[in-house]
Amino acid sequence: MMSSGTSNSFRLRGGRTCRCASVSNELETKDRSMGQKLTKLRSTKYAAQKGLCYYCRQPMWVKDGIAFCKIHRLSARFAARLQCTAEHLVARCDGGHDGADNIVAACLFCNRTRHLAKSPLSSDRYGLRVRGRLLVGKWHGFIAPTRQKNAS
Ligand SMILES: [Zn+2]
Repeated sequence: MMSSGTSNSFRLRGGRTCRCASVSNELETKDRSMGQKLTKLRSTKYAAQKGLCYYCRQPMWVKDGIAFCKIHRLSARFAARLQCTAEHLVARCDGGHDGADNIVAACLFCNRTRHLAKSPLSSDRYGLRVRGRLLVGKWHGFIAPTRQKNAS
């Protein structure tokens, strides 16, 4: 069970509760649980990262999960993993702040999985681990086809 009763916290192993990300599996998230500042930062980072997750470097969606499903031929349930979230490089529960230099855009799956770990890796090491696992089919299972340019 991910939910511990409040809308924007989830329980870590060992009983710690982390409020680093607002987690929702719904495709139409209303962002009520996320502060306006974080929402704005997430949008800024999403644009700066060209819509790709900071960790897995795969496409994410912000508002229109249904269009995302159609483009990538994914089920709604699967696409929920790739919703864009605001990720704290240094987690709030470890003293991380909400400033621009501590926030990146990450997909829900990468964000949530990082904070569920018994001892979360640093953001750099976690990113390397994620991309390594993704390549061998041991991550969320989505690798968008690369857009190859047909040079003629
Ligand atoms: Zn990701």
